[in-house]
Amino acid sequence: LPRLPIFEAIKNHDAKRTAVVHSLSGRSFTYRELVNDVAAAKDKLQRNTNGKSAEGERIAFLVENGYDYVVTLLSILAAHAIAVPLSPTFPAHELRYILDQSESLMLLSSEKFQEKADEVLKEGLETSPINYKQDKIMLGKTDDYVTLEPPTSEKGGMMLYTSGTTSRPKGVLLPQSVLTAQSMSLLEAWEYSKDDLLLHVLPLHHIHGTVNALLTPLFAGSTIEFQFPFNATTLWERLAAPFLPDANGSNRPITFLTVVPTIYTRLLASHPTLSPTLQTATKQALNPSNLRLNISGSAALPTPVKSAWTTLSNGNVLLERYGMTEVGMALSCGLPFSSRVDGSVGWPLPSVECRLVDTETGAIIKEGDEWDEVTQRERLGEIQLRGPTIFKEYWRNETATRKEFVDPEPGDENQERWFKTGDVAYRRAVPTATAGVDKVQEWTKGPLYFIAGRLSSDILKTGGEKVSALEIERELLSLPQVSECAVVGLPSEAWGQKVAVVVVLSEIGKTAGKGGKPWGPLDMRRGLKEVLVSYKIPQEMRVVDALPRNAMGKVNKKQLVKDVWP
Ligand code: ATP
Ligand code: MG
Repeated sequence: LPRLPIFEAIKNHDAKRTAVVHSLSGRSFTYRELVNDVAAAKDKLQRNTNGKSAEGERIAFLVENGYDYVVTLLSILAAHAIAVPLSPTFPAHELRYILDQSESLMLLSSEKFQEKADEVLKEGLETSPINYKQDKIMLGKTDDYVTLEPPTSEKGGMMLYTSGTTSRPKGVLLPQSVLTAQSMSLLEAWEYSKDDLLLHVLPLHHIHGTVNALLTPLFAGSTIEFQFPFNATTLWERLAAPFLPDANGSNRPITFLTVVPTIYTRLLASHPTLSPTLQTATKQALNPSNLRLNISGSAALPTPVKSAWTTLSNGNVLLERYGMTEVGMALSCGLPFSSRVDGSVGWPLPSVECRLVDTETGAIIKEGDEWDEVTQRERLGEIQLRGPTIFKEYWRNETATRKEFVDPEPGDENQERWFKTGDVAYRRAVPTATAGVDKVQEWTKGPLYFIAGRLSSDILKTGGEKVSALEIERELLSLPQVSECAVVGLPSEAWGQKVAVVVVLSEIGKTAGKGGKPWGPLDMRRGLKEVLVSYKIPQEMRVVDALPRNAMGKVNKKQLVKDVWP
C-alpha cells in the first residue's frame, strides 16, 4: 500500500461508496462528498488564518462526533496544520489548558458547542484578550499567542493529549507520516476492507477513537457509522437491525466494533433485560456474532467479560490489543480465534519493534530467556518500542521527551532511539492451535506478551517481591462477588509497600458475607487463597460504590488512593 497522507488516500476510493453514516438519523455521506467538503473546508481554513500559512500551526476544534468532525479533522490535515481535537466533556478550564499548552492558532467549533467554545475562550480573558470571530464554522482567533517555529519538515499531523491517568495530560505530536504508518500497520493486522461497516461509539480526542476507529477505516475505504454518545440499548438495537440500507440502497450489517472494556461490561449488563417484548427473532439477532471483528483495548480486559461475550456471541472471541497515545497500537492478538489467548495482548504489530527491559538491571530480556529460575516465573520487563509508528516528541516538553527515550545499544545497526512506555509485561510461549485456521498471520509468531501494568502504579514491591496489580485484579474479577476493583500499593514500614484493594461489590457480593452481610476482607482473603500466593493477597480492602474513571474508562489510582485513604 502506498504511504499516502489521509486526504490523498481517500481520493483513490470509489467515490460512490458510503464513507460516513449517522446511525440515528440515517443520513449518509459518500467518499465523493467527503473529498469535496474537505477540499472546500481546507480552502476556507486557509483564507481564515489572516494571510498566515496554516502549515505547522495547531488548530484546536470542538465538534460533535459525526461527519462534521471528519471534515474538520481532514481539512486541517490537508492544510498541513496540526489538528488538536478537544473533548466537549472536559471542563472549560481543562480545555483552556490544552488550548494554551498547544499554542493553538484558533479554535474551531460547531454550532452545537458554540457556548462551550465561548466558555473556554473566556477562561483565559484576564491574561489574553481574544478576538473571537464568528463564521459558519465558528472561527475563534487567538491572536495573542506567540507562534513559535512550526515543526520542521513534517507536513502537519495531530496533537492528542494523553488520558491524564498518571499526571497532567501531555501533548503528543503525531506527524502525518506517523499517523499513516500506524494505520498501515493496523490495516495489515486487522484487514480492514471497503466492505467493513464500523460502528463508532468512542470519544474522538483519543488515539483509539481517532486512529483505530476513524483514520484506519478511512484509509481502507470502509464505512464508519457514528452512534454517539454510547448507549448500550441503542447499540444492541443497532446490532439487532443490521440491515440499515446505505446511500446505494445496499444492505450491510455492522462488521466491526472496537471499544474499551467498560463498554463491553455495560453491553453485557444490559443485554438480557433489554426488552422483554422483543420478538424471538430480534433477540436472536442481538447476538453479536455478525461482527467480523470485536476488539477491546485501552485498559485490561477482564477475563469474565471476555468469556461472557464469547458465550453470548456463539464463539466470537474478543480480540485484545495494547497501545498508547504516544505509539498508536503496539501489540495485538491475531485474527484467528485461537490466537486470542486469555490475558494476553498478543505480539508486536507489523512495523513495530518491541523489547522488554528489566526495570532494575536494565538488561534486555532475550527471547528464550523469559523464565527466571529464582522467582520461578517469567521475568518482568518494561515495554520499549521503536519504528515508524512511534511519536517523536511531547509538545513543548523537552524534559519529558528526553526522559522517555533511550539510546540504542552501541553495536546496533539501527541507531533509532527506543521509547520507554512505562508499562511492564512478560512473555510466555503459548501454543496457539492453528488447525482449521485459513492463514497464520506473518507477525503473530514467537512468545505472546502479557501486560503486568504500569511501572508507576501497578508494579508493587512488597517484602522484596515484585507484584503485578493487574494479575491480582484479574483473579479478583473472576470472583462473582466483585464487580470492579483496583489494586494499589500503600506505603508500609514493614513491607515497603503493602497490597491493598478497592472493590465495587456485585449484586451477589452485597449479601455474600456471613449472615447476609456484604462480602468483606476475610471473605476476600479466603476467595484468593487457592489462586494466589500469600504475599499477593491484599492486606487491606475497602468497598466503594464506583471507581472514579476518566473519559476512556480508566482508573486514576493516585487519585483513588488519596480519596480512599486520605
Ligand atoms: P497518561 O499518560 O496521561 O497518564 P494514559 O497513559 O492512560 O494517561 P493513554 O495513552 O490513553 O493515556 O493510555 C495508554 C495506557 O493504557 C498504556 O500505557 C497502558 O498502561 C494502558 N493500556 C492500553 N491498552 C491496554 C491493555 N490492553 N491492557 C492493559 N493496559 C492497557
Ligand atoms: Mg501514558
